[in-house]
Amino acid sequence: MHAIFLDRDGVICENRPDHVKSWAEFHFLPGVKDSLVVLSQLGLPIIVVTNQAVINRGIISAAVVEEIHQRMVAEITAHGGRIDRVIYCPHLPDEQCLCRKPEPGMLLQVAQEMNLDLTHSYLVGDAASDILAGQRAGCQTFLVLTGRGREQLALLPDKMEDCFMVAPDLMKVTQQIIKLEDNSRVVAGKELSGIA
Ligand SMILES: [Mg+2]
Ligand SMILES: [Zn+2]
Repeated sequence: MHAIFLDRDGVICENRPDHVKSWAEFHFLPGVKDSLVVLSQLGLPIIVVTNQAVINRGIISAAVVEEIHQRMVAEITAHGGRIDRVIYCPHLPDEQCLCRKPEPGMLLQVAQEMNLDLTHSYLVGDAASDILAGQRAGCQTFLVLTGRGREQLALLPDKMEDCFMVAPDLMKVTQQIIKLEDNSRVVAGKELSGIA
């Protein structure tokens, strides 16, 4: 089984320069809830992976972050979409943990727990650190131009452009993933008929 990993801020909700500190400050980006309805229909696990150093900076508690995530998932579910799991890193950059993106630790942990094939999984982010984490985990990666995507694209080395796809927003990524999944199913079907 492979999966779809989504960053949170800048992919699902609006980035705030002073961080999302409460549910009142959480605003879905346009079209995201509809995208998640479509994405859910692929039947792949959808997992949110997010750096939340605001916790260890003492700006908000882990309980508040988890409440925001519960409400986010509830609203997506009420809209007809699905998020199967949310995992966050509470650490500061200088704590040198293995989970804070660009480290791939969160992806590796979920993959182990859910028995996922990372090399056929997808990761969507709006930052270079997302792309790097996804690549280190072996995923197919997408940079969206929502959130910090546009400024982050300029930070990524040119050479890397072959290694990730760029899309305006989550809906466009969703359409790309559907195409990739269709192609792989066609290929799998051909292989099957070849054997028969
Ligand atoms: Mg982000
Ligand atoms: Zn961490």
